[in-house]
Amino acid sequence: MSAENEAGVALVTGANRGIGKEVARQLAARGYQVLLAARDSSQASAVAEELTASTGQQVRGLTLDISDPASIAAAAELIGRDPGRLDVLVNNAGIGSDFGVAGVDPDFDAIQRALDTNFYGSYRLTIALLGLLRQSAHPRIVNVSSGMGGVNEMGGFSPGYRVSKAALNAVTRILATELKEERFLINSACPGFVNTDMGGPMGATKPVEDGAAGIVWLATLPDGGPTGGFFRDGAPIAF
Ligand code: NDP
Repeated sequence: MSAENEAGVALVTGANRGIGKEVARQLAARGYQVLLAARDSSQASAVAEELTASTGQQVRGLTLDISDPASIAAAAELIGRDPGRLDVLVNNAGIGSDFGVAGVDPDFDAIQRALDTNFYGSYRLTIALLGLLRQSAHPRIVNVSSGMGGVNEMGGFSPGYRVSKAALNAVTRILATELKEERFLINSACPGFVNTDMGGPMGATKPVEDGAAGIVWLATLPDGGPTGGFFRDGAPIAF
């Protein structure tokens, strides 16, 4: 590892646009070597080039569809070979497959799609990369969740999205507990209601820079920071 990569290596999923792209930019600006993952390989390369130019740090594109176990296995193998190191995993990729659909009239195919990406995808990827993360002196995992997945404030509608994020939050707690003695800091983040392709059409106005900042804070926590928590903008919220 060269001196300029002292901050470590960070992988951000779904980083070709929206919050993930901004998290990748902010981590690169802090000196991380960023692996910018996107399911479309040409977008991964193009956005990685753009962020390399704008931050002056090395950002590498990586093809990864988290809903495809074979794609996860291939990406994990590639990262294991080069750079052979991983310090930060930001599970950002996510879909809203049933926004506004009533829980009393569910679309079970849409619920399955939400689970495949938001829950199984992020969980599977985390497990595939656990060996590398265990070798880090300061392993950090951020699961990008949503207040809509908070059971405490759970309302109606969007059952697939809500359940998939609640399940992701459960994984945060399970892994944070099991890996606590191994230096891991693992937390869930709600970015807030952010003006992206996902939030914008629903009326979100929060700038993407602000939504990303709370995620980057968790990704770069110092040793002794919180683990097993759920945060929005750096403040704890109820699971
Ligand atoms: P966007 O829809 O703008 O971006 C979603 C990203 O996830 C895209 O890069 C998309 O890639 C990627 N993605 C989707 N499915 C997959 C997959 N199977 N494999 C790899 N990448 C995938 O959403 P946001 O940036 O707003 O959301 C980012 C995260 O924040 C999500 O997890 C979302 O649930 C969460 N969130 C967002 C809120 C908001 O108000 N915006 C509120 C609360 C939580 P592609 O371009 O190929 O589709």
